[in-house]
Amino acid sequence: MSARTIIEESAPAIHLVTKAYSHFLIVGFALVPAYLISYLFFFQDATLNYESHPFHEVAIAAATLEGLFITYVTWRCYQSSGEPLLRWLTLGFLGFVLIYALHGAFTRLAHDHIWLFLLYGPASRLVMSILLLVGLLSFDRKADSVEIRRKPRGWLGWIAAFILVDLLVAVVANSHIAGHVAVRLSMEGGALFFSALNVAALIIRRIRSPLMLIFGISVTAFALSSVAFILGRPWNHMWWLAHAIFAGGFFLLSYGVVQAFHTTRSFATIYSQEELMARLKAAMASTEGALQELQRTNQKLEHLAATDPLTGAANRRTFFERIEAEIARANREGEPFSLLALDLDHFKQINDYYGHQVGDKVLQEVVQQCCDAIRPYDGVARVGGEEFMVLLPKAALAFAYSIGERIRSAIESAVFESAVGRKVGVTLTVSIGVSQFGRDGKTIDAILRAADDRLYRAKAGGRNRVVAM
Ligand code: GH3
Ligand code: MG
Ligand code: MG
Repeated sequence: MSARTIIEESAPAIHLVTKAYSHFLIVGFALVPAYLISYLFFFQDATLNYESHPFHEVAIAAATLEGLFITYVTWRCYQSSGEPLLRWLTLGFLGFVLIYALHGAFTRLAHDHIWLFLLYGPASRLVMSILLLVGLLSFDRKADSVEIRRKPRGWLGWIAAFILVDLLVAVVANSHIAGHVAVRLSMEGGALFFSALNVAALIIRRIRSPLMLIFGISVTAFALSSVAFILGRPWNHMWWLAHAIFAGGFFLLSYGVVQAFHTTRSFATIYSQEELMARLKAAMASTEGALQELQRTNQKLEHLAATDPLTGAANRRTFFERIEAEIARANREGEPFSLLALDLDHFKQINDYYGHQVGDKVLQEVVQQCCDAIRPYDGVARVGGEEFMVLLPKAALAFAYSIGERIRSAIESAVFESAVGRKVGVTLTVSIGVSQFGRDGKTIDAILRAADDRLYRAKAGGRNRVVAM
């Protein structure tokens, strides 16, 4: 179940309205530069200039340093996740820095060589917007292998290409076409075109991850900065605003990169809060499931450790623990309890005639017979091969004897079936010795010994009998 469905189930109407409102806010926020551009365009005198070369130099130097820094951080993210988008983003930042730096460097030529000063700006934005678009189109592509990521040659080739663009811009700036308005407009228009294509691709491909939203707002800012550059003239307020809008987009995009750096180092796998909530919920459900499974397994293990695997009766260790507890209770409350020691008569013969498997089946049925004959809170344990004991809380010797007698006669008259459904033709009998806590001693050893002695006497006396005295 996705986060979307979970939340929609709870309150569909308000969910839809708030969702639409948040989309509206995002679009409204992305278009803030457009309001500023309109304001300057309609209400400000376009001839008003602020020409400060040092300010421009400092601003471009800061942008260059910041650009280099964020290029490095993006490159680190790319090295970690191998996401092709991050490769192109690194190249976009790097290309921008290597070309845009010259725009700052040539500030002092603004008067003597205006085109050398001006053309590096649109050229850098054009190169960056193209590389961002290529990156965007590779969103969701599978990660580059580590070898590809580490190869220095590809990067050096790109650096050479950016330097070539620098030279090309210089050539154009020195040629007779430099002053043609079409040159600057085609570059700035190109940057506008490719930035707008970025926005369109994001919308058409319905890419919705939070970092790609930041990417979208940034490229919208780049597109609007190109609009402002086209509307502006060197040093006037629209021109400065264009710089500021571009810087805003650049800051936002680098914020996205830093977010990626501190989390998954990938642009595709940063989740929205809704997705995170849904994932958390799913993880908690699976943990809960695993915990229940563990509890069931523990219970199974406890049961296995406490019982005899063949018959399901308590095993010797558990049974003795129960006797200890019963002794403590008897001492506390002064009520007696009794034990029966059972040994099947001539059981070896059943194995000899019918085989071990049938013998096993008979042992299981004997336990069943015992359980049917006793009270719910009495306990049966298998303490040896064909030897059993029964614990009878709150039972004095005479009553214990009667239960022993009940078991004896039940087994005597039972018809035991073999594993394949045949009737086993041998009548099975059992000899039983009975002892009572207190009367026969007050320790576990004493009452066990008394029951064993009487069992021995029952055997010696001809078997198929209960001996209590
Ligand atoms: P009695 O007690 O009456 O003296 O004769 P018995 O034949 O029962 O005596 P004994 O103690 O010598 O033999 C017990 C037999 O129980 C031996 C063995 O073959 C059988 N036995 C013990 N454990 C198992 C078991 O788990 N499965 C099967 N099928 N037989 C078992
Ligand atoms: Mg025996
Ligand atoms: Mg026996």
